[in-house]
Amino acid sequence: MSTEQASGPPAEHGRGPGHRPPLEALLELQDLDTGIAQLQHRRAALPERQELASVTAALGDTSRRAVEVQGSRAELVERQQALESDIGAAAARREALEQRMYAARGMPARDLQAMDEEIRNLRQRRDQLEDAELEVMVALEPLDAELASLDADGARLRARAGQVRAALEEAERELDEKLAVQLDARAAVASSLSEELRSRYESLRARLGGTGAARLVGSRCSGCHLELPSMEVDRIRHLPSGTVVTCEQCGRILVPTAGPPTA
Ligand SMILES: [Zn+2]
Repeated sequence: MSTEQASGPPAEHGRGPGHRPPLEALLELQDLDTGIAQLQHRRAALPERQELASVTAALGDTSRRAVEVQGSRAELVERQQALESDIGAAAARREALEQRMYAARGMPARDLQAMDEEIRNLRQRRDQLEDAELEVMVALEPLDAELASLDADGARLRARAGQVRAALEEAERELDEKLAVQLDARAAVASSLSEELRSRYESLRARLGGTGAARLVGSRCSGCHLELPSMEVDRIRHLPSGTVVTCEQCGRILVPTAGPPTA
């Protein structure tokens, strides 16, 4: 068990949090730090933050799927345009042949027969092309329906993201206000401690999971929750007020507290 005198700055005896003995102020600093850490944890773990992340992810999925479907749709539309162009070309060729047939009297029967044959082939081709175009149009229908549905999903998700973002900002603002109050209080209490005690506390706190100072409650250290031997407890409780003691088990600054155990 290491012991030494805590020497606070002279201001301690004058004003502010320094009215308290330095070790009580140290416990107050620890309590404030614990509260600040809890607020920071709550801020990081706000449920709105998680929901916003999942809504944003769903929005991303929707957009990616829409891009895929639009790509498939564009291919079909291109195919439809090519078919329509072929249909148009076949019709033009057929009309030209028909005009030549009606205009050309005295054409050899063999030529007329060949033209008649070609017109029949062109009609067949038109029917095939129109069937193919119909297939394309049938294939477009579910894509158009999916795009409309994705569009509606996107709008709904964007609206939800807006609501959740607003709720998140509101919750963050509330916690930030509480944090600001706690941080102000912390600064005041910290400035009432001696530089030596404060830096010792800070390095313990950084090393020991956020707790650098613990209470001796009954015979138990509130930092590591272990019992101290009763002789040690007696010894610590009879040291001059302000003596800095550290817990043998966890190394935290141990501050004896009056009254019945509370932890
Ligand atoms: Zn301990």
